[in-house]
Formats: sequence, structure tokens, C-alpha cells
Amino acid sequence: MTAKDPLPQSRHLATEIPGPLSTAAMQRRKEAVSGGLGTALPVIVSRAQDAIIEDIDGNRIIDFGAGIGVVNVGNSAPRVVKAVQEAVATFTHTNFTTVPYMGYIEVCEALNRLTPGDFKKKSLLQNSGAEAVENAIKIARHYTKRAAVVVFEHAYHGRTNLTMALTAKNIPYKDGFGPFANEIYRMPLPYAYRWLGNPETITADALDLVTHKIEKEIGAQNVAAILIEPVVGEGGFMVQPEGFMLGLQEFATKNGIVFIADEVQSGFARTGKLFAVEHEGMTPDMIITAKGIAGGLPLAAVTGRAEIMDSSHVGGLGGTYGGNPIACAAALAAIETIQEEKLVERAAHIGSILFETLNGLKAKYPVIGDVRGRGAMVAIELVKPGSKDPNPEAMAKVVKYCHSHGLLILTAGTYGNVIRFLPPLVITDELLRDGLSVLAEGFASL
Ligand SMILES: *Cc1c(COP(=O)(O)O)cnc(C)c1O
Repeated sequence: MTAKDPLPQSRHLATEIPGPLSTAAMQRRKEAVSGGLGTALPVIVSRAQDAIIEDIDGNRIIDFGAGIGVVNVGNSAPRVVKAVQEAVATFTHTNFTTVPYMGYIEVCEALNRLTPGDFKKKSLLQNSGAEAVENAIKIARHYTKRAAVVVFEHAYHGRTNLTMALTAKNIPYKDGFGPFANEIYRMPLPYAYRWLGNPETITADALDLVTHKIEKEIGAQNVAAILIEPVVGEGGFMVQPEGFMLGLQEFATKNGIVFIADEVQSGFARTGKLFAVEHEGMTPDMIITAKGIAGGLPLAAVTGRAEIMDSSHVGGLGGTYGGNPIACAAALAAIETIQEEKLVERAAHIGSILFETLNGLKAKYPVIGDVRGRGAMVAIELVKPGSKDPNPEAMAKVVKYCHSHGLLILTAGTYGNVIRFLPPLVITDELLRDGLSVLAEGFASL
């Protein structure tokens, strides 16, 4: 088989998982690669198409992870592959601030057009989500001439020094990696499933709590930015309760604070809207995008109000590789794919199947405490039956079952007890249902 042969969109177990070739290769990895990197599924990929990953032992594994919400348009999406092949044969790199090229400009035009808000917008391209978050904070600080940044419990914003400080969870992201950047203030998150107050008034109560803390503990006039994930990613797929972000943005606007949505995981059609803030008709001052933007090529962006994005002096922003021409070509092809294949609608459809099936499993297995998310960004939180005590042991067993039966699923959550579902949005209903049947068997096996 060559890379060009179509990869059947079906699950197939040729060996046990991991098979002998993967096991031998993982031994080489262990010798050669830093031990600081984890492994969700210890097989070596030979190729991947749409929603199937094939390993070097010939197993075909259903992909419910999409490279952590990256290949929303599918593994090796045809338009992305073609665009990359053409771009790479044309020129590989000039550095946009040395000799500019059209791809960078066109990606910025597309982002300015597609992100919500009918005000004048401008964009900046970078290599990774963390780098884009760093630049958004840099720009917001420069624009406001203020230092403080407000973030939330359970947040994940990356692994660089500033973004580690913005991230909530200590193990594995921060432990022993300090000292961390200062002027970062963490606020309570209205995490509905674990909210101790009245669930009916969660939005108003959380807004009161957060704005009071900002005013009394930081001083709103010292705050450069409020940074929030519309659907919390690594922290466990908590959806911000309706009206919470709108209330925060109103507070931000009133106090000259830049309101920034980190849509690195929730963006690009994942939640059944192009951007998750659209579910509430929001228009953030800045939106950070990455993961789903370029069909697997490394690219990230900051898009925001033109006056904010223009506040920096010339040369204040940049980077050698940011907005690499091949990644830009891939992004334009990914955006075209989302539109042509109607992947926004497709995400909503996948979400309806996920919610229906997972709520059915929840009714049957009390170990599933909560089903939550938006569109095709859905998770289940596992607890000890009859309580809300986290149950990472049950999670580990279900994940192991799924992986050994040819279904790749990812975990998440501050308490290490969340299974998240991020299938490529081109997955067929049949494959999605086959994957969910493996998951159901996993719960039955507990
Ligand atoms: C993954 C992620 C990041 C960091 O992106 P990298 O490309 O891994 O640096 C930032 N924010 C959110 C919400 C993410 O999910």
C-alpha cells in the first residue's frame, strides 16, 4: 500500500494493541526521546486518513482525538494535502517580516472576516497556541499599559513560562518548573457539576464573586486582560454557564480591560459553531486560535480589534517561523474544507449522537457522573457511584479497554477523571457509532 491508497474507514485489529512492531519501536523511543513526554496510545502510526489511524502492525484505530482537536477537517484532508504539496514546491520560508507573502495576508483576512464582531479587526500569526496566548497578553499589556491578567480555575493555556503561570493545574504542567511569571490572578470558575452554591443562580453568583475579587484584590484599573476558555479544554470540557462570559465582557469593557477568548481547542467548527463564543452571540476584543486552524500544520493566531492589535511599535511582534507559508496554505485549505463540507453543521450532528449515546450510558452506569460539552467537544466525568468523588481508576480501565480494542480516546480533567471526545468532524456516523459501542463495552467490562 502507498500513502495514496484509500484507508478503509473501519476498525480492524491485526494484532493485539500495541502490536510487536510498535512495542519494539517504543523501546527505541524510550532510549532516544526525553522522558518528559507522555504517551496516550503506545503505537506508531504508519498513516492516517479521515477518522482512521493505521499503525505499523496494520491495526486500524478509530480516532476520537483528532490529534487533540487539531485535524477537525480529518486526518490528511485532501484539500490540505494538495495545498501543502503545492506550497512546499513553491517556497518553504522567507520569514514574513523579511519578505512577505500572500498566504499570511489571506489567512489574516479570513480570520478577520470569520471571527465574530463587525468592527475592524487585524491578526497576527504564530506557531503554537501557547505562543499566540503569550502574544495576546503582550499586546493587551502594551495597549492598556497595565500588568495584571485575570485567569480562571481549571484553565489551560500552554506550557511556556508565561502560559504555565496562566494554566491552573500543577501536576503535570507546572510542578518543579518555576519560578513563574507574576501579575496573574486566578478566579473561581462556575463549574456547574461541582458548584457548591445554588445551581439556579450560578451565573449571577459567579459574576458577583469574580468582579468583587477583581475590584477588591487587584483593582479593575490595574487589569490588562481577562483570559477565558469558552469551553474549558484540558481542565475537563466545562461549558461556561450562559451569560457568565457576557457579564464578564461587560465588566471588562466598562473598566477598559481587554476581553480575550482562548479558542485554541474550541475553535474552528469544533463546537457546532465556527467559534464557541458565537453560541452566546459574543464579540470578544481578541480571539486566540490554533489547533483546528490548519488541518495539522503548526499555526496559531491572535485576532482582535484593530486599535488593540496595532498598539505595538513596529518590530515589537514577530518570530522566525510565525505564519510559515506552508502552514498558511494548509489553513486556507482547512477553512475551505470546513465551508465546503459543512463541518459546522456536521459538528452539531456528531454532538447530538455523542450526547444521546453518552446520556444513555450515564443512565445505565452510575460511574458516569456528568456528560457535558458543546457540539463535537464532549466529555464524561467519572465518579465513585453515589458520590461526586473523582474516579480516575475507572477512567484508566475504560481507556485501556478502548485502546486495546481499537478506539483512541483522550483523557482530561483537573482530577484526572474525564474522558473527552474530539473526533475529526468528517467521521462517518457508522464509525462514530462503532467507536461508541466499544466505549459501551468498556463500561460493561468494569
Ligand atoms: C492546547 C491549548 C493551548 C496551547 O496550545 P499549544 O499549541 O499546545 O501551545 C492553549 N490554550 C488552549 C485552550 C489549548 O487547548
